[in-house]
Amino acid sequence: MPKKETSKVKELKEQLFMKKKNSGLIMSDAEIKSADKFNEGYKKFLDEAKTEREAVKAAISIAEKAGFAEFDNSKKYKAGDRVYLNNRGKSVILAIIGKENIENGVNILAAHIDSPRLDLKQNPLYEDADMAYFKTHYYGGIKKYQWTAVPLALHGVIIKKNGETVDVKIGEDDKDPVFVVTDLLPHLAEEQMKRPAPKIVTGEELNILIGSRPFKDDDASELVKLNIMNILFEKYEIVEEDFLSAELEAVPAFKAKDVGFDRSLVGAYGQDDRVCSYTALMATIDLKGVPSKTVVTVLTDKEETGSDGNTGLRSSYLKFFIYDLAEACGKNGRHVLSASKCLSADVNAGFDPSFPDVLEKKNCAFVGKGTCLTKFTGSRGKSGTSDASAEFVGYVRSIFDKNNIIWQTGELGKVDLGGGGTVAMYIANLNVDTIDLGVPVLSMHAPFEITSKNDVYMTYKAFSAFIK
Ligand code: MN
Ligand code: MN
Repeated sequence: MPKKETSKVKELKEQLFMKKKNSGLIMSDAEIKSADKFNEGYKKFLDEAKTEREAVKAAISIAEKAGFAEFDNSKKYKAGDRVYLNNRGKSVILAIIGKENIENGVNILAAHIDSPRLDLKQNPLYEDADMAYFKTHYYGGIKKYQWTAVPLALHGVIIKKNGETVDVKIGEDDKDPVFVVTDLLPHLAEEQMKRPAPKIVTGEELNILIGSRPFKDDDASELVKLNIMNILFEKYEIVEEDFLSAELEAVPAFKAKDVGFDRSLVGAYGQDDRVCSYTALMATIDLKGVPSKTVVTVLTDKEETGSDGNTGLRSSYLKFFIYDLAEACGKNGRHVLSASKCLSADVNAGFDPSFPDVLEKKNCAFVGKGTCLTKFTGSRGKSGTSDASAEFVGYVRSIFDKNNIIWQTGELGKVDLGGGGTVAMYIANLNVDTIDLGVPVLSMHAPFEITSKNDVYMTYKAFSAFIK
């Protein structure tokens, strides 16, 4: 039997040891109620914004109601002005002009609004065995086998030959049909199950079933495909060639749900990273009065494919926007960036007790223990990370502690066991102090991801405290 601790030992432990508790033990009943209420708005956002384009629309609609107006780089702005910049309908920047000289730096929140999914190829439609299908090319890091036998909805745009845009959203309304990638029955899957896991279902097998009824005519070929094209022509006035200039994304058709008897968790598609997008957006929208420093919140595209492209954060659109803001105040953009601070808002892996071996328990994040601060990401010897400085960690930590934020630190996996990155390094590379903050997630990148309502709320509170 262990010896009883003396009061001196107890006292010293109390003084010297780190204490991390479950948020449910620390939060008051009233605060848990506020968290639950906040998550109702979050679930609504998840259902409305399943793609980057829909997230931009939803964010702008929320922002306009809160007095944000479209940014005009020829205008002068004053403290308290609220503006947004829509970058090609796929990423958006919101800003609130602060009281201080902008050369003291701006406070940046950066989250991404793209999520793993199945994109349609440019020539998607075909018929085989009297059934019609869409060919897909997956987007982002997925376990391909997870995307079979799951009801899918189709979202996106088609640009017709005459330049007209057709918005597509099928599979979300209860009356809508859905689509699906079929999988092999276990009875005949003996050979399939011997394949290595990444190939249990291959990329070229991710074909979406979209119909099976032929156009009534006995003599012609491809009658099922013809029937589908005819339905699409009647509904959208599109012809097959119009798929060439389309961006159509297949995403899980189900809605965000409470998970657990206690309803403590949110289950939904695309929480990476709309959980940090929504919390960053609402922290910006809900900011009371005029902040001392200018706030710049960017919801970006293309994080899941490496942030390249003109709507991703390796492009210059954020830098150009900050330069424009600086010029509007008669200041130098370089000086603004060099003095700026950023919370790169992205999710981290939550500890999953069914798979305990991949995370190191002293340093990983736990679901329900608050928002997660991640000093570095990357893989191997911290390759591909910006690794925030101790000084900046100290700065952020003191803000959180002053504002009663329940927070923890995280690490994406045991050393040398994989890893990953976020947009943090692309912002840090602009000479901005940057660190990752976000919600721990279970089943990340799966069609149905899990977060804790308390963690979602604490992340919102953390962003609010950082920018106020
Ligand atoms: Mn992410
Ligand atoms: Mn991701």
